[in-house]
Amino acid sequence: MRTGIFGTIHLSKRNAYLYMGDFMKIVYLLLFMLPLSMISGCMPLGDEPAAAVYYSPHADDEALSMGGSMLASLEKGDQVAVVLLSKGKASGARDLVNSRLEKEAKPVLSVEEFGEARVKEFKKSAEALGVDPENIFIYDLPDGDIQKEAVSKIMEKMNKQFPNASHHAMSYKDPHRDHAASGMALKDLVEKGVISAGYFYLPIQEHQTIDFKDAFAVPDDLAENYRKSLDSYKIWDPDNGFYAIGYMSVDSYFHSAEAILESKWHQ
Ligand SMILES: [Zn+2]
Repeated sequence: MRTGIFGTIHLSKRNAYLYMGDFMKIVYLLLFMLPLSMISGCMPLGDEPAAAVYYSPHADDEALSMGGSMLASLEKGDQVAVVLLSKGKASGARDLVNSRLEKEAKPVLSVEEFGEARVKEFKKSAEALGVDPENIFIYDLPDGDIQKEAVSKIMEKMNKQFPNASHHAMSYKDPHRDHAASGMALKDLVEKGVISAGYFYLPIQEHQTIDFKDAFAVPDDLAENYRKSLDSYKIWDPDNGFYAIGYMSVDSYFHSAEAILESKWHQ
Protein backbone atom coordinates (compact mmCIF):
# COMPACT_ATOMS: atom_id res chain seq x y z
CA MET A 1 0.00 0.00 0.00
CA ARG A 2 2.69 2.45 1.06
CA THR A 3 4.84 1.68 -1.89
CA GLY A 4 1.77 2.10 -3.93
CA ILE A 5 1.00 5.37 -2.27
CA PHE A 6 4.61 6.59 -2.53
CA GLY A 7 4.63 5.43 -6.09
CA THR A 8 1.54 7.42 -6.79
CA ILE A 9 2.95 10.46 -5.03
CA HIS A 10 6.22 10.09 -6.92
CA LEU A 11 4.40 9.88 -10.24
CA SER A 12 2.25 12.87 -9.37
CA LYS A 13 5.37 14.87 -8.59
CA ARG A 14 6.91 13.86 -11.87
CA ASN A 15 3.74 14.90 -13.65
CA ALA A 16 3.73 18.11 -11.68
CA TYR A 17 7.34 18.81 -12.73
CA LEU A 18 6.41 18.03 -16.34
CA TYR A 19 3.45 20.39 -16.19
CA MET A 20 5.65 22.96 -14.52
CA GLY A 21 8.21 22.58 -17.31
CA ASP A 22 5.56 23.05 -20.01
CA PHE A 23 4.12 25.99 -18.14
CA MET A 24 7.52 27.68 -17.93
CA LYS A 25 8.09 27.05 -21.63
CA ILE A 26 4.82 28.85 -22.39
CA VAL A 27 5.78 31.70 -20.05
CA TYR A 28 9.17 32.07 -21.77
CA LEU A 29 7.47 31.92 -25.17
CA LEU A 30 4.99 34.62 -24.17
CA LEU A 31 7.77 36.77 -22.74
CA PHE A 32 9.64 36.37 -26.03
CA MET A 33 6.58 37.11 -28.20
CA LEU A 34 5.16 40.02 -26.21
CA PRO A 35 7.80 42.63 -27.07
CA LEU A 36 7.61 41.60 -30.75
CA SER A 37 3.86 42.14 -30.88
CA MET A 38 4.26 45.42 -29.00
CA ILE A 39 6.90 46.60 -31.46
CA SER A 40 4.86 45.60 -34.53
CA GLY A 41 1.81 47.31 -33.04
CA CYS A 42 3.68 50.58 -32.70
CA MET A 43 5.43 50.61 -36.04
CA PRO A 44 3.80 51.00 -39.45
CA LEU A 45 3.38 47.69 -41.23
CA GLY A 46 6.24 46.81 -43.52
CA ASP A 47 4.00 46.82 -46.60
CA GLU A 48 2.25 50.10 -45.76
CA PRO A 49 2.54 52.20 -48.93
CA ALA A 50 4.35 55.46 -48.47
CA ALA A 51 3.14 56.72 -51.83
CA ALA A 52 -0.17 56.70 -53.67
CA VAL A 53 -0.61 57.10 -57.43
CA TYR A 54 -3.96 58.19 -58.88
CA TYR A 55 -4.98 57.78 -62.52
CA SER A 56 -7.55 60.20 -63.88
CA PRO A 57 -8.90 59.32 -67.36
CA HIS A 58 -10.04 62.93 -67.87
CA ALA A 59 -9.54 66.22 -66.10
CA ASP A 60 -12.08 66.35 -63.21
CA ASP A 61 -12.32 62.58 -62.52
CA GLU A 62 -9.54 62.94 -59.93
CA ALA A 63 -11.46 65.61 -57.97
CA LEU A 64 -15.00 64.31 -58.47
CA SER A 65 -14.43 60.61 -57.83
CA MET A 66 -11.05 60.26 -56.07
CA GLY A 67 -10.61 63.61 -54.29
CA GLY A 68 -11.60 62.30 -50.85
CA SER A 69 -9.10 59.48 -51.17
CA MET A 70 -6.30 61.75 -52.40
CA LEU A 71 -6.85 64.08 -49.46
CA ALA A 72 -6.91 61.14 -47.02
CA SER A 73 -3.56 59.98 -48.47
CA LEU A 74 -2.10 63.47 -48.24
CA GLU A 75 -3.25 63.82 -44.65
CA LYS A 76 -1.60 60.49 -43.80
CA GLY A 77 1.64 61.98 -45.09
CA ASP A 78 1.86 59.79 -48.17
CA GLN A 79 3.54 61.11 -51.26
CA VAL A 80 0.71 61.56 -53.77
CA ALA A 81 1.15 61.46 -57.56
CA VAL A 82 -1.64 62.06 -60.03
CA VAL A 83 -1.64 61.03 -63.67
CA LEU A 84 -3.93 62.55 -66.29
CA LEU A 85 -4.40 59.87 -68.93
CA SER A 86 -6.04 61.98 -71.65
CA LYS A 87 -6.44 65.67 -72.33
CA GLY A 88 -10.15 65.12 -72.92
CA LYS A 89 -10.10 66.70 -76.37
CA ALA A 90 -13.20 64.81 -77.58
CA SER A 91 -15.51 66.44 -75.04
CA GLY A 92 -18.64 68.08 -76.38
CA ALA A 93 -18.06 70.83 -73.83
CA ARG A 94 -15.86 72.56 -76.43
CA ASP A 95 -19.02 73.62 -78.30
CA LEU A 96 -20.48 75.08 -75.09
CA VAL A 97 -17.27 76.95 -74.32
CA ASN A 98 -16.95 78.25 -77.87
CA SER A 99 -20.52 79.49 -78.06
CA ARG A 100 -19.99 81.38 -74.80
CA LEU A 101 -16.73 82.81 -76.17
CA GLU A 102 -18.52 83.90 -79.35
CA LYS A 103 -21.16 85.67 -77.28
CA GLU A 104 -18.38 87.52 -75.48
CA ALA A 105 -16.66 88.27 -78.81
CA LYS A 106 -13.57 86.34 -77.77
CA PRO A 107 -11.51 83.94 -79.91
CA VAL A 108 -12.81 80.34 -79.89
CA LEU A 109 -10.68 77.34 -78.90
CA SER A 110 -9.20 74.81 -81.33
CA VAL A 111 -9.23 71.16 -80.24
CA GLU A 112 -5.60 71.46 -79.12
CA GLU A 113 -6.22 74.69 -77.20
CA PHE A 114 -9.25 73.12 -75.58
CA GLY A 115 -7.13 70.12 -74.45
CA GLU A 116 -4.48 72.43 -72.99
CA ALA A 117 -7.17 74.43 -71.17
CA ARG A 118 -8.44 71.20 -69.61
CA VAL A 119 -4.89 70.32 -68.52
CA LYS A 120 -4.63 73.77 -66.93
CA GLU A 121 -7.81 73.14 -64.89
CA PHE A 122 -6.50 69.71 -63.90
CA LYS A 123 -3.18 71.05 -62.64
CA LYS A 124 -4.90 73.81 -60.68
CA SER A 125 -7.26 71.27 -59.12
CA ALA A 126 -4.47 68.84 -58.18
CA GLU A 127 -2.37 71.62 -56.68
CA ALA A 128 -5.39 72.84 -54.68
CA LEU A 129 -5.71 69.34 -53.20
CA GLY A 130 -2.08 69.59 -52.12
CA VAL A 131 -0.29 67.54 -54.78
CA ASP A 132 3.29 68.62 -55.43
CA PRO A 133 3.47 70.01 -59.03
CA GLU A 134 6.43 67.67 -59.63
CA ASN A 135 4.10 64.73 -59.03
CA ILE A 136 1.53 65.74 -61.66
CA PHE A 137 1.93 63.73 -64.88
CA ILE A 138 0.13 64.53 -68.14
CA TYR A 139 -0.50 61.99 -70.92
CA ASP A 140 -2.40 62.41 -74.17
CA LEU A 141 -4.06 59.04 -74.78
CA PRO A 142 -6.95 59.26 -77.28
CA ASP A 143 -10.03 60.57 -75.47
CA GLY A 144 -12.94 58.17 -75.99
CA ASP A 145 -10.57 55.41 -77.10
CA ILE A 146 -8.27 54.83 -74.12
CA GLN A 147 -6.86 51.32 -74.35
CA LYS A 148 -6.07 49.12 -71.36
CA GLU A 149 -2.63 48.23 -72.76
CA ALA A 150 -1.62 51.88 -73.07
CA VAL A 151 -2.69 52.53 -69.48
CA SER A 152 -0.79 49.42 -68.28
CA LYS A 153 2.46 50.80 -69.71
CA ILE A 154 1.95 54.08 -67.86
CA MET A 155 1.12 52.22 -64.63
CA GLU A 156 4.24 50.06 -64.90
CA LYS A 157 6.34 53.18 -65.39
CA MET A 158 4.74 54.85 -62.36
CA ASN A 159 5.22 51.66 -60.35
CA LYS A 160 8.98 51.86 -61.04
CA GLN A 161 9.09 55.54 -60.12
CA PHE A 162 7.06 55.02 -56.93
CA PRO A 163 7.98 51.53 -55.67
CA ASN A 164 5.51 49.99 -53.18
CA ALA A 165 2.94 52.71 -53.89
CA SER A 166 -0.77 52.00 -53.79
CA HIS A 167 -2.41 52.62 -57.17
CA HIS A 168 -5.87 54.13 -57.64
CA ALA A 169 -7.94 54.00 -60.81
CA MET A 170 -11.56 54.27 -61.84
CA SER A 171 -13.69 51.14 -61.45
CA TYR A 172 -13.39 48.46 -64.12
CA LYS A 173 -17.20 48.30 -63.75
CA ASP A 174 -17.60 51.95 -64.80
CA PRO A 175 -19.99 52.27 -67.78
CA HIS A 176 -17.63 54.86 -69.33
CA ARG A 177 -15.17 52.76 -71.33
CA ASP A 178 -12.21 55.13 -70.86
CA HIS A 179 -12.73 54.88 -67.10
CA ALA A 180 -13.18 51.10 -67.22
CA ALA A 181 -9.96 50.77 -69.27
CA SER A 182 -7.99 52.38 -66.42
CA GLY A 183 -9.58 49.97 -63.92
CA MET A 184 -8.99 46.92 -66.10
CA ALA A 185 -5.33 47.82 -66.59
CA LEU A 186 -4.84 48.12 -62.82
CA LYS A 187 -6.83 44.94 -62.11
CA ASP A 188 -4.55 42.97 -64.50
CA LEU A 189 -1.39 44.32 -62.89
CA VAL A 190 -2.69 43.47 -59.40
CA GLU A 191 -3.62 39.95 -60.53
CA LYS A 192 -0.18 39.47 -62.09
CA GLY A 193 1.42 40.58 -58.83
CA VAL A 194 3.19 43.54 -60.48
CA ILE A 195 1.25 45.97 -58.26
CA SER A 196 0.35 44.90 -54.74
CA ALA A 197 -2.31 47.47 -53.75
CA GLY A 198 -5.04 48.52 -56.17
CA TYR A 199 -8.16 50.60 -55.46
CA PHE A 200 -11.04 51.04 -57.91
CA TYR A 201 -13.29 54.10 -57.63
CA LEU A 202 -16.95 54.51 -58.38
CA PRO A 203 -17.66 57.52 -60.57
CA ILE A 204 -19.52 60.09 -58.46
CA GLN A 205 -22.66 59.72 -60.60
CA GLU A 206 -22.73 55.93 -60.01
CA HIS A 207 -22.45 55.95 -56.21
CA GLN A 208 -25.91 54.41 -55.94
CA THR A 209 -25.54 51.83 -58.69
CA ILE A 210 -22.16 50.08 -58.27
CA ASP A 211 -21.34 48.04 -55.16
CA PHE A 212 -18.47 49.40 -53.10
CA LYS A 213 -16.30 48.06 -50.31
CA ASP A 214 -15.50 51.25 -48.42
CA ALA A 215 -15.08 55.00 -48.77
CA PHE A 216 -12.46 57.64 -48.02
CA ALA A 217 -14.06 60.78 -46.64
CA VAL A 218 -12.65 64.25 -47.25
CA PRO A 219 -10.80 64.96 -43.95
CA ASP A 220 -12.48 67.85 -42.08
CA ASP A 221 -9.32 69.92 -41.88
CA LEU A 222 -8.77 69.57 -45.65
CA ALA A 223 -12.35 70.37 -46.71
CA GLU A 224 -11.20 73.77 -47.95
CA ASN A 225 -8.63 72.12 -50.24
CA TYR A 226 -11.42 70.00 -51.67
CA ARG A 227 -13.66 72.98 -52.30
CA LYS A 228 -10.81 74.84 -54.06
CA SER A 229 -10.02 71.77 -56.14
CA LEU A 230 -13.63 71.54 -57.40
CA ASP A 231 -13.74 75.30 -57.91
CA SER A 232 -10.76 75.08 -60.28
CA TYR A 233 -13.20 73.65 -62.82
CA LYS A 234 -15.63 76.57 -62.45
CA ILE A 235 -13.36 79.51 -63.27
CA TRP A 236 -14.51 81.55 -66.28
CA ASP A 237 -11.57 83.83 -67.05
CA PRO A 238 -10.76 83.48 -70.77
CA ASP A 239 -8.12 86.23 -70.65
CA ASN A 240 -6.12 84.03 -68.29
CA GLY A 241 -6.87 80.73 -70.00
CA PHE A 242 -9.67 79.45 -67.72
CA TYR A 243 -12.93 78.36 -69.37
CA ALA A 244 -14.90 76.53 -66.63
CA ILE A 245 -14.79 73.41 -68.81
CA GLY A 246 -15.31 70.79 -66.09
CA TYR A 247 -18.30 72.55 -64.60
CA MET A 248 -19.83 73.40 -67.96
CA SER A 249 -19.66 69.78 -69.05
CA VAL A 250 -20.97 68.01 -65.90
CA ASP A 251 -22.29 70.57 -63.41
CA SER A 252 -24.55 68.04 -61.65
CA TYR A 253 -21.53 65.82 -60.84
CA PHE A 254 -19.93 68.77 -59.09
CA HIS A 255 -23.04 69.30 -56.98
CA SER A 256 -22.99 65.59 -56.05
CA ALA A 257 -19.29 65.69 -55.11
CA GLU A 258 -19.86 68.77 -52.93
CA ALA A 259 -22.68 67.00 -51.11
CA ILE A 260 -21.18 63.50 -50.80
CA LEU A 261 -17.61 64.46 -49.79
CA GLU A 262 -16.21 60.97 -50.11
CA SER A 263 -14.60 58.59 -52.59
CA LYS A 264 -16.17 55.13 -52.75
CA TRP A 265 -14.01 52.22 -53.85
CA HIS A 266 -14.03 48.48 -54.36
CA GLN A 267 -11.37 45.85 -55.09
ZN1 LIG B 1 -13.93 60.92 -67.08
